[in-house]
Amino acid sequence: MKQLLTKYNDKLVSQGLCDTGVPLICGLDDKLIWNRNSPLCGVLEEVIADLTINSLLFAKSAEPYFSIINYFIKDNIATIYPQDCETRTFLHDIPVTSELAVPTIIEALKRRKSIVIKDQGIVTFGIVSVEQAFIVYSSVCFAFFVKFFTDYLEDVRQNKVSRRQEEIFRGAVKIYEYFLGKVNFVPSFSGPFHDKEEVIKAMVEAAKFTVDSRMVDSFFGNISYRLGDTIYISQTASSLDELAGCIDPCPIDGSSCAGVTASSEYVAHRDILLDTDVKAILHGHPKFSVIMSMVCDDRECGARGDCHIKCPKKRFISDIAVVSGEVGTGFYGLCKTLPPAVKDKRGAIVYGHGLFTVGQSDFKDAFRNLVDIERMCFKIYLDRVKNGGNYDT
Ligand SMILES: [Zn+2]
Ligand SMILES: [Zn+2]
Repeated sequence: MKQLLTKYNDKLVSQGLCDTGVPLICGLDDKLIWNRNSPLCGVLEEVIADLTINSLLFAKSAEPYFSIINYFIKDNIATIYPQDCETRTFLHDIPVTSELAVPTIIEALKRRKSIVIKDQGIVTFGIVSVEQAFIVYSSVCFAFFVKFFTDYLEDVRQNKVSRRQEEIFRGAVKIYEYFLGKVNFVPSFSGPFHDKEEVIKAMVEAAKFTVDSRMVDSFFGNISYRLGDTIYISQTASSLDELAGCIDPCPIDGSSCAGVTASSEYVAHRDILLDTDVKAILHGHPKFSVIMSMVCDDRECGARGDCHIKCPKKRFISDIAVVSGEVGTGFYGLCKTLPPAVKDKRGAIVYGHGLFTVGQSDFKDAFRNLVDIERMCFKIYLDRVKNGGNYDT
């Protein structure tokens, strides 16, 4: 258990969600075990005693998340209505309390997956695993980040950015710029690959790269490779930075699909791999690709407010198409929209959701494309801000 707690502590730190030494995590073995001692352990144990959970995480977020989250706290509720797909169904409003009081936390966690303690941190929990607490924590940070930057651009347009907003914006941009600038490695395996072992090794490495470079959260992403008539794909609910043992071979004819455990985005991967001549696909939710995909320039758009799900406009971010991507085979379904959007391109963005990038024979291109497109979206975002929120024409 101790090892597991250390693992998630280290993930929170390496993914930039918390500063070193900050996370306080406990898990239930025979008894409760903490990753470190703190005077707060006793108080939090009272919380755990009243909930049917097996792990709890309490940590102050690292910047820029800390400032961003505090920015949204109004009247003791951090109300955000996330527009992106990762979090839309995941979080609604996030309860806030101004002090670490046991009854308040218990009451909140009975209704919601997390609570923010003003100026102190976020509490999340897991019912069956420590991983759940980690995923919720990471999603809370992601949701606030995306919401902050989406709102900011709109406020720039309307000329109503506050001083505080401006400060946070500058700080956050600096941090993001730094990490984007640091990504300078590419996967080492060169394709095309000839056997299962090669494919799996390359997938494990590339997936880990995308997380280590902070391009995507470990949990919300997937990866695939086509070898002959088989598609290798990461399993649903697997973590990209720990894919070994979590890759399913799915025969293209669907004969024996491990498809039950294969990624829920298997169909999107399969359709791209069948319809185009690429072999490798990477999918994740890089922040500015998601943010920019939700920007609809048509002020009169009939889907205004819902442009992240059903905007009828054909949109591009430079050469990258932004397409709808409902699950299933309907008119807006991924299998209709994605393959043509990706054809002869570096990738495509599903709006409000994430980025799919492709590689002809290995993950070198796919990874480079992911990084390049995210950098491009970040740059376009900043250009727009400079330009009063509007398109630079
Ligand atoms: Zn996704
Ligand atoms: Zn629209």
